[in-house]
Amino acid sequence: SLSSRLQNVFSKLRGKGKVSEEDVSEAMREVRLALLEADVNFKVVKDFIAKVKERAIGLDVSKSFTPGMVVIDIVNKELTELMGGTQSKLAKANKPPTVIMMAGLQGAGKTTTTGKLAKLLQKSNNRPLLIACDIYRPAAIKQLQVLGEQINAPVFSLGDQTSPVEIARAGLQHAKENGNDYVIIDTAGRLHIDEELMEELKQIHQVTKPDEVLLVVDAMTGQDAVNVAQSFHEQLALTGVVLTKLDGDTRGGAALSVKAVTGCPIKFAAMGEKIDSLEPFHPERMASRILGMGDMLSLIEKAQMNIDADKAKEMERKMRTAEFTFDDFLEQMEQVRNLGPLDQIMDMLPGMNKMKGMKDMKVDEKQIGRVEAIVRSMTKEEKQKPELLNHSRRKRVAAGSGTTIVEVNRLIKQFDDMKKMMKQFSSMMGPKGPKGGKK
Ligand code: GDP
Ligand code: MG
Repeated sequence: SLSSRLQNVFSKLRGKGKVSEEDVSEAMREVRLALLEADVNFKVVKDFIAKVKERAIGLDVSKSFTPGMVVIDIVNKELTELMGGTQSKLAKANKPPTVIMMAGLQGAGKTTTTGKLAKLLQKSNNRPLLIACDIYRPAAIKQLQVLGEQINAPVFSLGDQTSPVEIARAGLQHAKENGNDYVIIDTAGRLHIDEELMEELKQIHQVTKPDEVLLVVDAMTGQDAVNVAQSFHEQLALTGVVLTKLDGDTRGGAALSVKAVTGCPIKFAAMGEKIDSLEPFHPERMASRILGMGDMLSLIEKAQMNIDADKAKEMERKMRTAEFTFDDFLEQMEQVRNLGPLDQIMDMLPGMNKMKGMKDMKVDEKQIGRVEAIVRSMTKEEKQKPELLNHSRRKRVAAGSGTTIVEVNRLIKQFDDMKKMMKQFSSMMGPKGPKGGKK
């Protein structure tokens, strides 16, 4: 994958005490290939490489104390810029309702995303109305109604005998009369872009004057997704893009090219079929995910929603400053358990996907029990200062926890690796975290 290829390039650089101009050029050649293979638009790749090189030369990377890290940092920043820099928020109408129109090819995920977006809006105390304007696809109306029921959001429909333009107009009126502060219009798609569909979408646009026109794009379609985005943009003046199916085996190209080619920011990312799998798109997080930093920030946000907020904040601070002890490790293990599927969580943690040991360990509940037992067999001091754990102490811990010294050694090694990754992560992001650390 793109991630693992880039990680390979950078692990070569990272190990070097000195980086020559040639090393940087070589790394850039590999980055270029990796991006092209991930189906990133070739013009975008060309610009990207040029920018990274320019910055690297400007900074005189070879003189830096940690040249490998400097190069990674530059690539990270440029990747973030490529995807729009900062998070792009949903527009809001001065006078409600805010009108959001969904557009995209058939099967891209419009209807599903309409439901997900409504759920997100409800979470911040809004009252969205969903309007069923796909009268062509069999059962499309029913699909939206089922989603509406699931989240307890009203769905406006006039069946499949009224024109979509009329439905949109009547639905908007209905929202005004019923005090809905958002309407989300689910529209029809085709397998390919066609004139008739565009004409209909343009008319819906004229009648409802949407504050947002969101193009729903299937991230799995790669380069094609970008072409689709471009032609929709020419016709409809899109205000944003929703990338769906990022949970699948995407090559990542769409995420990296769509903003650069169309100028439209990616506003949301969908990562699953479930109704709560839509998230605001954060370019900086996507960049660090691609570079294998793990999506620590997403994890922290998720933790803050599901776990005690103060504890999560403290954890975030500790991760940033890398003053992380075995006590924190244990606490985190426990909190992680409350978050959901372990494999998914492990993928989000920095370095986890790179730690072969961790993968071999196969994170199951039983394994976590053993890890807990090991940590609990350490003294208070040992938990705070793992470097105290010499051979005889390790033997004692193994005996005390009913495990073996091999397991104890492995855990300590993993803990150290994790700490190292955190240090790297925080130095890359700067002392104030990703936002403060940006240029
Ligand atoms: P539409 O034709 O654009 O309205 O597309 P739908 O909303 O009907 O979605 C088409 C298919 O894609 C459905 O089976 C959805 O469950 C699936 N789908 C939508 N979004 C995602 C996603 O983020 N991840 C995955 N894995 N499947 C998705
Ligand atoms: Mg649909």
